[in-house]
Amino acid sequence: MTSGTRVVIIGAGIAGVSTAFHLSCRHDISDVVVVDPRPPLTLTSDKSTECYRNWWPNASMVGLMNSSIDLLEEMAEESGDIFSLRRPGYLYVTADPETFRRMGEEADAASSFGGGEVRRHPADGPYREQVDGVDLLGPDDLREHHSYVTDEAVGALEVRRAGYFSAQQLGSWMLDQAKARGVRVVAATVTSILTENGRVTGVELDDGSSIDAGHVVVAAGPMARPVAALAGLDLPLHSELHIKVAFRDHLGVVPRDAGMFIWSDPQHLDWSDEEREALSDMGRTDVTGEMPIYCHGRPEGGAESPYVVGLWEYHGDVMEPVWPFPIDDLYAEVVMKGLTTMIPGLAPYLDGLPEHSVDGGYYTKTEENRPLIGPAGLEGLHLVCAFSGFGVMVASGAGDLAARHIAGADLPGYADDFLLSRYDRPEYLAMIEALGSGQL
Ligand SMILES: Cc1cc2nc3c(=O)[nH]c(=O)nc-3n(C[C@H](O)[C@H](O)[C@H](O)COP(=O)(O)OP(=O)(O)OC[C@H]3O[C@@H](n4cnc5c(N)ncnc54)[C@H](O)[C@@H]3O)c2cc1C
Repeated sequence: MTSGTRVVIIGAGIAGVSTAFHLSCRHDISDVVVVDPRPPLTLTSDKSTECYRNWWPNASMVGLMNSSIDLLEEMAEESGDIFSLRRPGYLYVTADPETFRRMGEEADAASSFGGGEVRRHPADGPYREQVDGVDLLGPDDLREHHSYVTDEAVGALEVRRAGYFSAQQLGSWMLDQAKARGVRVVAATVTSILTENGRVTGVELDDGSSIDAGHVVVAAGPMARPVAALAGLDLPLHSELHIKVAFRDHLGVVPRDAGMFIWSDPQHLDWSDEEREALSDMGRTDVTGEMPIYCHGRPEGGAESPYVVGLWEYHGDVMEPVWPFPIDDLYAEVVMKGLTTMIPGLAPYLDGLPEHSVDGGYYTKTEENRPLIGPAGLEGLHLVCAFSGFGVMVASGAGDLAARHIAGADLPGYADDFLLSRYDRPEYLAMIEALGSGQL
């Protein structure tokens, strides 16, 4: 293959690695060079909660995620389940009858977009294990099948095509497969994207050398915006800081076979009067008033592991990505209190937090929270970025889609909705406008 058809991928996170895998292993394009100064998969792609779901509010996102999960299932089979793909579901729990009613409406909508059938229990028959679609559980079924959840809950929506896997293992496996096909990894920073007559011709590296290429893929995660700017593109991206805590559940409160559990109501944390006074003195009224929905977590590390991860985005800080990033000193305690609302058995940990560690990274995203996948700007330039908080679950579908664009293969019906050029369509802009904020 000549340099005219060589593909340079900027970034060896899960986005870049998946694109390299699909180009080389599925489209026979092996003259691929992945450039990254860091060891592969070590900036954001090893910091995630590693969860996946096909629960999204429109047909394009459901289509892309279903394709990604199909590919994950194929690769799990092909690799001998090397990345431990598990499907225990996502459980959205509420203590508010109105929220439960709304969950039913959302389930019907998601089903119409391809999310699978909706079963309302007990009316639609008994609750079963490991199926597709969505189960709506009333309080009796919830208590019977998820007894760790508070008695205050009035119902739950359980997404069944959902679970978690080891993103690091998946990425390593895909990279090994790609390397076996001839893909190379170069440890360097891309400092320029070279162009000639309106098309890309390669990249320049921080050691002064350059690599000729006919296609350049921007898969630079939190740095996608400045990297795309090297080719004159101004991507509409911003980054939010997201943190998670892993704690040792030495009392064995959270069942090891639980899926992701998500408290779907706002809540007030149970601080003592002294704590409230101290927090007020510290200027920390951000954690003493009404706290947002979606405090969530899941068991981490398989049946033998005592670890549980918890997350709660109660700040939503938008910032230019920097490392090391600021971490709220109260994060672990606040998350444990939030989780205790949903799982009262965790209460003993409020008297003294168990052994824990906190890390995180950035959700780099578009306004309407859809990724950017496919050609953009100059001829030969491609985007695989804006992976937000769904990057490891979307990576397979996105890498496949990006590789199809580069290889000139058939494209799925949703492809146009992930191009940068979607912002040129007035009806798309109108949808964003109508949405206000949130997920399109
Ligand atoms: C706390 C947290 C929880 C999450 N939970 C989930 C979850 O449950 N499920 C899910 O699907 N997703 C989740 N995510 C999101 C997911 O982790 C990210 O979307 C995904 O890892 C982004 O992958 P990426 O390849 O785009 O970026 P990264 O992994 O950040 O990789 C980008 C790479 O580009 C390189 N790079 C940048 N600039 C250059 C340059 N000039 N030259 C060469 N290389 C460059 C960087 O060094 C880096 O290695 C979570 C994220 C966080 C922070």
